Amino acid sequence: MTKWNALQKERTTEASLLADLFQEADAIVVGIGAGMSAADGFTYIGSRFEDAFPDFIEKYQFLDMLQASLFHFPSWEEYWAFQSRFIALNYLDQPVGQSYVELLEMLKTKPYHIITTNADNAFWVAGYDKEKVYHIQGEYGLFQCSQHCHPKTYQDDALVRKMIAEQKDMKVPYELIPFCPECGAPLEINKRNAEKGMVESADFFEQKARYDAFLEEHKNDKVLFLEIGVGFTTPQFIKTPFQKCVQANPNALFVSMNHKHYRIPLALREQTVQLSENIASLIHGTYQELKGE
Ligand SMILES: [Zn+2]
Ligand SMILES: [Zn+2]
Repeated sequence: MTKWNALQKERTTEASLLADLFQEADAIVVGIGAGMSAADGFTYIGSRFEDAFPDFIEKYQFLDMLQASLFHFPSWEEYWAFQSRFIALNYLDQPVGQSYVELLEMLKTKPYHIITTNADNAFWVAGYDKEKVYHIQGEYGLFQCSQHCHPKTYQDDALVRKMIAEQKDMKVPYELIPFCPECGAPLEINKRNAEKGMVESADFFEQKARYDAFLEEHKNDKVLFLEIGVGFTTPQFIKTPFQKCVQANPNALFVSMNHKHYRIPLALREQTVQLSENIASLIHGTYQELKGE
C-alpha cells in the first residue's frame, strides 16, 4: 500500500501527478543525466556537433561528440585544439536551458539536493546554488593532472579562449598546453574515465559530504527520488544508489523520467513511478501546474 496520496488519485496527465508528488514530498533528491541536457537542445549529435567540429569529423570520421571527446588524440596539441572548442560549446558559452530554469523554480519550495553525471555548465548558467549540486563525474571547465598525481583541479577560461583563437590545422601552439605544477605532465579535462577514474579534489569531497548529509538528514522522511534523463550506461552513480535509498526507506518514492521504461526490481515496484513523456514538456507542464496552484 503506497504512502503517497498523490498516487491514489485518477490522473489524466503525468504533469499533474508529478506536481502533486512535489507538493506532498518532505524533501526531493534529483538525479540528472544526459537526457535532461539533451531535452534542452544540448545534444551530442547532428548540427550542434557538425557545425563545431567539421575538420575533426573529416579527419577522424567521428559519429558523435561523445565518441570524439573520449578519443585518444595523437598529440596534446590536438587534444587541446579539440577540447578547447568542446569546453566553449558545452561549458563557457552554453546557453541557459529552459528545463533547468523551470526545474529550479519547482524545487525552490522544498528542501532539495541534486546529483548529476553531467559535466556541462547547465546548472551554473541557470543560476543553481553551488551548495546543492554534486557533480559526480567532474566538470568540463576544470582541468586535472593527466597522471592524476595530486588531488587538485584547475580552471583557466582565458587559456581556453586563447587555445581556440590560436589553433591552426587542429593543433594549439605547444606553449599553450597546460602542465601539472607538481609532476610536469600535461593537464587534461577533469572528467571520469572508465580506466583511470578521475581526480577528486577537496571541493569534490565537499560536494559529496553535503549530498551525503542531505540524504542522512532525510533518511526517514517522505523523500521523492526523482531521476531525470538517466541512461543505462553508468547505473552505479544515480540509479542503483537511488533504488537502494528507496528500498531502505518505506516513505520514499522513486520516480524516473525517461522515454524508455525498464525493468524495476520486484521489491521496488510499489515505490516506483515511471514517467515517459518528453522531458522538456513534462517539466514545463509540471512547472505550470505548480505555478497555477
Ligand atoms: Zn601531476
Ligand atoms: Zn517551459
